[in-house]
Amino acid sequence: MSSSASSASSPTSMESGRAAESNHAPGPILLLGAPGVGKGTQAKELVKVWGIPQISTGDLLRANVAQGTPLGKVAQEIMGRGELVPDSLVNEMVAIRLLQPDTARGYILDGFPRTLGQADWLDGRLAAQIESLPVVAVSIQVNYNQLLRRITGRRNCPVCQTIYNVYMNPPKRDGFCDIEGAALVQRTDDTEEVFKERMRAYEALTAPVVEHYRALGRFAEVDGDRPIPAIAAGIVAAVERLRHLG
Ligand SMILES: [Zn+2]
Repeated sequence: MSSSASSASSPTSMESGRAAESNHAPGPILLLGAPGVGKGTQAKELVKVWGIPQISTGDLLRANVAQGTPLGKVAQEIMGRGELVPDSLVNEMVAIRLLQPDTARGYILDGFPRTLGQADWLDGRLAAQIESLPVVAVSIQVNYNQLLRRITGRRNCPVCQTIYNVYMNPPKRDGFCDIEGAALVQRTDDTEEVFKERMRAYEALTAPVVEHYRALGRFAEVDGDRPIPAIAAGIVAAVERLRHLG
């Protein structure tokens, strides 16, 4: 006991280096991947593992609008005209969110950066923060046909809200809920056409972001066609490995 007390009171540089490692601050983590790969689901799993916040730009935008912040008012006006909120506005919302003290040990960005412009902004911002750990990017991979089946196969029970999938998790009786027998419904945007449109936007805007972080290193791909806990374990292992690259 006395030896550990004395080393704690006068740590050598090597010992303090080890202490920082054993602290396991995960730092900034980007979750990347096509629509429907499960980024939001995995972000919530990682929040449980590391106790760091999930920052989703969709949630940030909704919160800013609901709270009537100056940025939220501008965003609401733009969306009211049916236009897309520009990168600069999203970046500002993220910047303000990152000032919150709960991000000190790290955070999980989910749905951001969505464009190369947002990625450049984030890289510049992190480079300006001397004490910040470098960003680690993890791309969740699910093949196109599997994603298509996840989305077009989805059916909801309007009574108990249970979600089925006609391919992967079908109800016992086709078209009806197992629990109370209500007729299942398909959301109007869970169609092949809407999916293809979202994939086209992803390929044009966001796939280059994945290539950007792949080229920078501290990048990993995990197989997203597995049970949720197995994917989460794969992401945790990838982040820990990338954090020890030195
Ligand atoms: Zn039901």
